[in-house]
Amino acid sequence: MKIRQIETYPLYYPLSEPYGDANGYKYYRSCFMFRIITDSGIDGWGECVDWLPALETGFQNRIIPYLLGKPVNQRLELTEKVGKWQARIGAGVSMALTEIMAKAAGLSITDLWGGARRKRIPVYASFQSYTPRTDWMQVSLKRVEHAAGQGFRQVKVKIGGKTFAEDREHIALLQDRLNGQLQIAVDANQSYDAKTALKWNRVFKDTDNWLWFEEPMPLQSPEDYGWLRQQCLIPVAGGENLPSPEVFSTWMKTRALDLIQPDAMHMKGIDPFRGILAMARYQGVRISPHAYDGILSRLYAILAQACLPPWSKMDGDGIEPLEWDVMENPFTSLFHLPVKNGEVTIPSGIGLGTEIDWQRLESLRWDGTAYV
Ligand code: MG
Repeated sequence: MKIRQIETYPLYYPLSEPYGDANGYKYYRSCFMFRIITDSGIDGWGECVDWLPALETGFQNRIIPYLLGKPVNQRLELTEKVGKWQARIGAGVSMALTEIMAKAAGLSITDLWGGARRKRIPVYASFQSYTPRTDWMQVSLKRVEHAAGQGFRQVKVKIGGKTFAEDREHIALLQDRLNGQLQIAVDANQSYDAKTALKWNRVFKDTDNWLWFEEPMPLQSPEDYGWLRQQCLIPVAGGENLPSPEVFSTWMKTRALDLIQPDAMHMKGIDPFRGILAMARYQGVRISPHAYDGILSRLYAILAQACLPPWSKMDGDGIEPLEWDVMENPFTSLFHLPVKNGEVTIPSGIGLGTEIDWQRLESLRWDGTAYV
């Protein structure tokens, strides 16, 4: 079975209102979908994110000419080669080829991987808490309340982009308003030094509904993180931008994080991503995959999490929650993935188990005009 054709779908969507985190505001969302079709007519979807003009040019001039005619069963070799040119495209190619092999075998991807161990995965509502409005705190509170009303029981909110006092007020209001009924993760996007990060212990000591403290400091030194982890009153999480199993291995060996957060799109393939998950289970480190950029990498993270053994005998099933972007994100509805009561149902059909919404895909197609 050889690759016969590759179609590209650069997608772009200007947000109706900017939102952001400690790194600044986002004004649009973009995503690059592509479809690999084989000579036997079986197809598979890939996804990556970068500046669309660069991706489109890269695909037309290098990726497509290289992949045409190549055998699909050489997934690892092909993915490694493309991943050397551009890691995220390698990740996307590996997704598409995995789907094709599952379909060719008449299996779901989870069956191909050894079988789903559960029917649902808990997801937490992930927020970009800052808006340019002066009443950003109230806007954030309303959004979190809305998610709670939809059945989410776990949320992640941003800190680190305002003064400690302002962020602390926001979190106190949130705790007050929700009366401890939600579990909360706070994400500083690497904003603090160690001592400032530890100021948050003053807040953490008051309640026990914390999930974790995400990326309090720059992710440069596992030793510093290990030190912080010893002092911090709640679990410390991170790793969404770490690039490979080798790097994760160092962070796990150093016992620097309670929870690792690999992103399926940020590795050079879905296979090394799954390798990290397996390694974390062997080393007794919890895993909550990061999934922000697109819906396909989120779906692959869900499928991978579905196949993992439980991390603990506590908490019922003992599977960690996965990130669910609840902000204005047009890509979430590209595949039908129902979320109910804070859980996503794992698709079980052949391949991905869910079909792309073609109409939605076409409606989001980038028109080729310049953007920054
Ligand atoms: Mg984060």
